[in-house]
Amino acid sequence: MENQYDVIIIGAGVVGNAIARELSKYSIRVAVIEKELDVSMGTSSRNSGVLHSGIHYKPGTLRARLDVLGNSLMADLCNDLKVKMNYLGKLTVAQDEEEVKSLYILKEQGQANGVPDLAILDTDAMRKIQPNVGGIKALHSPSTGIICPYSLTIALAENAYANGCHFYLGHRVTALSKQGDGFDVTASGKRFQSRVLINSAGLYSADICAMLGINDYKIYPCRGEYLILDKRLDGSLKVLVYPAPHKGKAGLGIHLTNTVSGNILIGPSNEYQDDPEDYACTARIMALLRKEGHELLPDLKTADFIRSFSGLRAKQTSPGKGGFEDFVIESREDVTGFVNLVGIESPGLTSSPAIALMVKDMVAKLLTLKRKETFEGTRSGMAGYFHQLPDEQKADLVSQNPDYGEVVCRCEQITKKEVLDAISNPLGVQTINGIKYRSRAMMGRCQGGFCLPRIVQILEKEFGYNPEDFLLKSKDSQLFLGKMRQDVV
Ligand SMILES: Cc1cc2nc3c(=O)[nH]c(=O)nc-3n(C[C@H](O)[C@H](O)[C@H](O)COP(=O)(O)OP(=O)(O)OC[C@H]3O[C@@H](n4cnc5c(N)ncnc54)[C@H](O)[C@@H]3O)c2cc1C
Repeated sequence: MENQYDVIIIGAGVVGNAIARELSKYSIRVAVIEKELDVSMGTSSRNSGVLHSGIHYKPGTLRARLDVLGNSLMADLCNDLKVKMNYLGKLTVAQDEEEVKSLYILKEQGQANGVPDLAILDTDAMRKIQPNVGGIKALHSPSTGIICPYSLTIALAENAYANGCHFYLGHRVTALSKQGDGFDVTASGKRFQSRVLINSAGLYSADICAMLGINDYKIYPCRGEYLILDKRLDGSLKVLVYPAPHKGKAGLGIHLTNTVSGNILIGPSNEYQDDPEDYACTARIMALLRKEGHELLPDLKTADFIRSFSGLRAKQTSPGKGGFEDFVIESREDVTGFVNLVGIESPGLTSSPAIALMVKDMVAKLLTLKRKETFEGTRSGMAGYFHQLPDEQKADLVSQNPDYGEVVCRCEQITKKEVLDAISNPLGVQTINGIKYRSRAMMGRCQGGFCLPRIVQILEKEFGYNPEDFLLKSKDSQLFLGKMRQDVV
């Protein structure tokens, strides 16, 4: 049978793709099945992009162990995959004596988890790191970092693909059954078979369990809304600044977060939702974020808010309970061959390389894993963007390829070559957002007002696409319905 695999992974988020890349090191047939038209369309592109140090998690839990290990693996991984990241450090700031006590608890917890170089700083010391920061004391965690979450997810997928993993995008898994030693998987009308089945379906992980008769889990989607600030404010934050923790809160509190691209994020909020696809940004939360933003960054102007977005946490704790449950990562004894991941909320992004190793060890108990000599773990290209290169290197590249000399996206300074590379990426591109996430075109101040028509022109003229086939992000998001008038001859 054509669609027969040793391992099928459901879900192409950062965790599913990290597992796919890890397993692509071995001589087995691996496939990833994803309901959306591209990888990284769920929680993995809708978060703060912070590489957490590990201070926030209870010692002995999977979240603590996998976060600290994942954080330490990230530098080499990003170097290999050409993904930009930066360990810039974080200040967790206390405003009163009660909060200072929680800083000492965090420090002790972090040390028990193996987090390096933690220090409690007084006001002078913390302001040497971040001028003007308000608060009476802070916990400094230098191993906290930032990363572009969708660049990592895409890079993991592309590298897994380059090493033989198959991707079925736009295929929603609707039925599962155990057949003898393996599994029958139905996705968008197609049938697949595998010996091992990995559930990495994020917000839908409990639904995947239910398809196999496992009713042990429930996911409560909890939305975090953000505002993105203009790059004018790049450099205002030397480190990440978080508030000291408050008991019973579902997240880490609204904070300012640098991004590797130079924008600052304000958020996220915490609001439980019924619908796991409800990515709304509400007027109420936007007003709250604006207010917090003005308090945290006095120089902030209304024109600095360039757009909003939201992500949904796959929480296992109900609205009444709040707080956090540990990750569930298990090889089920009652359904042999089913490796099940549930409740991978924060710090799932940071932990993803460590989760992949843990899952690989579980798979090794179910299948023989023989290392492939042909595995190539590095990705070509550059970490970051053309405009960030030194002038000499830019001139060199332009002389090799004039498409580097043509800027398509003025706000983000993205060249035609970068857009062409995004369109011809190994996994293919079915949506405008696929081009946006890969090239950064359309992510600046004008949000595509200038460059979207030029990108559509490139798709039409250089790739022969019909504009009516262009989708923004999903099957039902057509950008064009037809021509308003015929071309003038
Ligand atoms: C607001 C917010 C802030 C966060 N901040 C951070 C942070 O700073 N640092 C950090 O480490 N972590 C953070 N996280 C957590 C992190 O984003 C997640 O842990 C991580 O992205 C989870 O990845 P995943 O692959 O498990 O899930 P997802 O990215 O959701 O991937 C699951 C995939 O499964 C697919 N799928 C679902 N059902 C089916 C089906 N039936 N058939 C086929 N495909 C299916 C979905 O379409 C999706 O693409 C944050 C999360 C949120 C929401």
